[in-house]
Amino acid sequence: MHTGSCLCGEIRYEIRGDLGPAFFCHCSRCRKASGSAFASNVVVAETDFAITRGEHLLGTFRSSEETVRCFCTRCGSPIMSRRGNLGQVRVRMGTLDSTVTKGPGAHIFVASKAPWYEIHDAVPAFDERPTV
Ligand SMILES: [Zn+2]
Ligand SMILES: [Zn+2]
Repeated sequence: MHTGSCLCGEIRYEIRGDLGPAFFCHCSRCRKASGSAFASNVVVAETDFAITRGEHLLGTFRSSEETVRCFCTRCGSPIMSRRGNLGQVRVRMGTLDSTVTKGPGAHIFVASKAPWYEIHDAVPAFDERPTV
């Protein structure tokens, strides 16, 4: 099991299962939403994800037709997003409190990456979302 929380600590969540694939997303929306060069997201089954505290503070923003982003309305931390009806949430790995040693396995939407950031690792990079 994994646990996480927002910056102010009012929102807490549990992941009652395994972490799925994780990726560094360089798309312009993730850059805006994170305020950084990329977002670090891990896919988790929706049925394994539970907000255990502060659910009333969870705000939502539909950033595209298919994507809803959820964040703490008190401190602004991005928590996770939902894309379509995939039965998955994409948890923002920076909010995890439990120790996770395995990092993301791909850079995605590299075609949209910030020009001021250079990727200096051997993690596979994809111009858009890999279709596999
Ligand atoms: Zn918060
Ligand atoms: Zn993105």
